[in-house]
Amino acid sequence: MCAPYAVNLGVTLTVLSESCDDPAALVVPSSPVGAHTDLDAVRAFAAQCDVVTFDHEHVPQHILRALVDDGVRVHPGPDALANAQDKLVMRARLTQLGIPCPPWAAVDSIDQVEQFATEHGWPVVLKTPRGGYDGKGVLLAKSVAEASDWVDRLSGGEQLLIEQAVPFRRELAVLVARSPSGQAAVWPVVHTVQTDGICTEVIAPAADLDEELAGRLTRDALTIAAELGVTGVMAVEVFQIDDADGNSAYVVNELAMRPHNSGHWTMDGSVTSQFEQHLRAVLDLPLGDTRARSRWTVMGNVLGGDYPELYPTYRHLMARDPGLKIHMYGKDVRPGRKIGHVNVYGDDLLALRERAQHATDYLQGVITE
Ligand code: ADP
Repeated sequence: MCAPYAVNLGVTLTVLSESCDDPAALVVPSSPVGAHTDLDAVRAFAAQCDVVTFDHEHVPQHILRALVDDGVRVHPGPDALANAQDKLVMRARLTQLGIPCPPWAAVDSIDQVEQFATEHGWPVVLKTPRGGYDGKGVLLAKSVAEASDWVDRLSGGEQLLIEQAVPFRRELAVLVARSPSGQAAVWPVVHTVQTDGICTEVIAPAADLDEELAGRLTRDALTIAAELGVTGVMAVEVFQIDDADGNSAYVVNELAMRPHNSGHWTMDGSVTSQFEQHLRAVLDLPLGDTRARSRWTVMGNVLGGDYPELYPTYRHLMARDPGLKIHMYGKDVRPGRKIGHVNVYGDDLLALRERAQHATDYLQGVITE
């Protein structure tokens, strides 16, 4: 989704794609095919680039480090990216920086799970440190029996992240961009509405958010970006909680180091889209204005399902709601997979949420008019 912004800036974007029908390969003319886990393929690809960046976090560390050793400019770099690749690395680093996190530990036996639960209470949340997305790799365990399957599956040396199940009010996210020369910019804090572990809606800015809390969260996001040496866009996902005195507080859930779903609203709702900003940041250009264009923007995710032909749905949706912005990704449709999103913006939050919901329901075939 960086492609149109690269065209606008006259910057040549080249994508290393898994296959020639990858969504990115369909929109970027120069897309050599190769695996991000194949050192030779990544090296050959990087040799043609002035700067290398990512649209996911799964490029192995040894490949990232080989590129850096070859003298390639890699943004974000391997040390920063490790915190988005491995949730145990991230927890240890954020705790060291004094950033609020849920109570957590690394475990590799059921005794350790039980000990953690005795201290912090059931249920607990178990997470595979690497490779999870959209709630896959996360287990809410209410008993030893429920946790034991995951612990039994660990092979030698592997650990799980265990966390207290946080009784959160809602999930928030803050998106920040940072360039190699250290300039940083941050967008307003948003509310990410989750359904069954998948983000279905983003409200920008988060409604009724205490200004002091938003300020603290924003400062923490900037601290994380600076201390971890993040370059490019990073999303900090947090749980809003009540502290022991009943005041609003937050704990960080996780970090994403790339343009992120919680920032898709910026494509229509902010002066600078996260995709343009990511390009500016990794190219070390001055960053763009992150202010919202209107009072509210609502983003609705379109999830794959038993799904009608896409193109015929456009006629009805566009006629019904000329202000609706539709962004589809050209991905294969699989149940629950994020295959596109819609944005609407304006002054009436309730009406915007209804419009976004209508559009996503209609695109997903949940409703027919
Ligand atoms: P993923 O990497 O798959 O996005 P997350 O760590 O974001 O996984 O967890 C997915 C969802 O699981 C979160 O959005 C949240 O709803 C829930 N969750 C994760 N960690 C906790 C926790 N410690 N307490 C309560 N709920 C949690």
